[in-house]
Amino acid sequence: MPARHEPIFDRYSVWRLLKESIDGNRGWKQAWRKPEPKARYDVVIVGGGGHGLATAHYLASVHGITNVAVVEKGPIGLGNSGRNTTIVRSNYLLPSNIRFYEYSLRLWEGLERELNYNVMMSQRGQLSLFHSASERDAAVRRGNSMLIQGVDAVLLDREAVRAMLPFIAMDNPMFPILGGLLQPRGGTARHDAVVWGFARAANRRGVDILEHCEVTGIRCESGRVVGLETTRGFIGAGKVGIAVAGNTSQLAAMAGLRLPIETHLLQAFVSEAIKPLIGCVINFGAGHFYISQSDKGGLVFGGALDGYNSYSQHGNLPLVEHLMSAGVSMVPALSRLRVLRQWAGMMDMTMDGSPFICRTSIEGLYLNGGWCYGGFKATPGAGWCFAYTIAKNEPHPLNADLTIDRFFEGRMIDEAGVGPKPWAQ
Ligand SMILES: Cc1cc2nc3c(=O)[nH]c(=O)nc-3n(C[C@H](O)[C@H](O)[C@H](O)COP(=O)(O)OP(=O)(O)OC[C@H]3O[C@@H](n4cnc5c(N)ncnc54)[C@H](O)[C@@H]3O)c2cc1C
Repeated sequence: MPARHEPIFDRYSVWRLLKESIDGNRGWKQAWRKPEPKARYDVVIVGGGGHGLATAHYLASVHGITNVAVVEKGPIGLGNSGRNTTIVRSNYLLPSNIRFYEYSLRLWEGLERELNYNVMMSQRGQLSLFHSASERDAAVRRGNSMLIQGVDAVLLDREAVRAMLPFIAMDNPMFPILGGLLQPRGGTARHDAVVWGFARAANRRGVDILEHCEVTGIRCESGRVVGLETTRGFIGAGKVGIAVAGNTSQLAAMAGLRLPIETHLLQAFVSEAIKPLIGCVINFGAGHFYISQSDKGGLVFGGALDGYNSYSQHGNLPLVEHLMSAGVSMVPALSRLRVLRQWAGMMDMTMDGSPFICRTSIEGLYLNGGWCYGGFKATPGAGWCFAYTIAKNEPHPLNADLTIDRFFEGRMIDEAGVGPKPWAQ
């Protein structure tokens, strides 16, 4: 449905392209305004990543709440939303996670139409390889768990993997590939476009996007939030939603909250561009390495966390070495490629590896965090559920289990089965 504020001729379409090409491209408008902060908003969302902007969009489009601001300390989309490896999937094991991520994947499937923006959603399939009988059992269990929840999952044997990925080292003596679990609807989307699409759609419904506006304090009176201290002055707020990924503990501390989160680094890499080689997303089961190919031809890959707490956004060299050796074990031809770029992002790791979208003990203050290294795929679902939780002051059934209270109630959603070890999730 077109946004209320959107004249039909402002929509992106083939007709619009035609019109602009005839008119000398003079009619394109700024995708979002650069307003001055108002004195007060009904809702202020902290964090102009995909999650914050999606929340603002759904507050306006689903709940009719348009007196909303998104405050972002830099330009939008330069946090984890602009640093990730763009994988979307819903192949989780535990019911609370599967339900939530599958809902998010369904939103992804209609997102371009919803936002009137090309987010380059590509459902090319996501394949997780297994290398031993016990890994096969785990894959079968996961696949069955997905099928029970109505999610697509296909178990591939060795020959099916070989036919799909002829360049892969099937008979590596340490990590022979025995098969894989495929989610055909998994794939990738263009991360920057997702941020820009949500920003444009939210802006068109009247949301103010306030860039270069860092939150430095959260003002509370008599147990309820009343506004935010920012580098652009005090901004009053009826409700405040925090969606700042790796900075979640710092923002929560401003309101006197201590969270079961640690901030860890996750690195990613892009190679020089080559002709099409990898037609799906591949997860190497033996060494936490995953890889896909971008539309520009570069191979995009990453793996495990660096393993210690940091806010540095650089990443350490031992992990680079580990990832390169895992990658070359799986696809020996990778050794002939040059890496063009490497970077890291700050991951908000919870003690059970699952996220939270919930109220807090402070009235009017809400939290969206704990996405670990998997929050890009959650972007539309998290925005949708967070908007619902803020608007109704209660969680939607989809995020009812995803509260921080679970850590006090001993009700973990331990997806990886490794216990309270964020660096091992
Ligand atoms: C290398 C890497 C690879 C990844 N790969 C994947 C993947 O393939 N698939 C997947 O699903 N997930 C992946 N992730 C995880 C995913 O990127 C994140 O979980 C997700 O993008 C989080 O989105 P967000 O909007 O919550 O956070 P961000 O995009 O980080 O947005 C938070 C924003 O808050 C702002 N902020 C912080 N403090 C303040 C303040 N005091 N005042 C105002 N603003 C503030 C920041 O500047 C930032 O822009 C990856 C992450 C990394 C780093």
